[in-house]
Amino acid sequence: MFPCTECGLCCQNIATVKELKEFDLGNGVCKFFDMKTNSCTIYDSRPDICKVDKMFEIKYSNEFSKKEFYKLNAKVCNDLQEDYQIDRSYRIKI
Ligand code: SF4
Ligand code: SF4
Repeated sequence: MFPCTECGLCCQNIATVKELKEFDLGNGVCKFFDMKTNSCTIYDSRPDICKVDKMFEIKYSNEFSKKEFYKLNAKVCNDLQEDYQIDRSYRIKI
């Protein structure tokens, strides 16, 4: 399973994700993201686009190895974390 460290930043930066257009509050934050708990309020029924492992399985397994796909996703996570200057303990190491 993708080693998400639950920083919550992907859910606050969905403006460029076309599959989540309807979820965007207008500032890039998902309407289902709870700022207080830093978590998704529809976690069990969240769309596939929010699931790294599911997306690998249904869309990217012909294009990348799982490790490559994880590395690409981790880079997005880590870059976001750098931008927000959150604690280094959240960084993902693949
Ligand atoms: S940005 Fe990455 S590490 Fe942070 S919550 Fe999203 S998937 Fe997890
Ligand atoms: S549906 Fe949940 S997991 Fe997906 S972007 Fe919104 S808050 Fe994040």
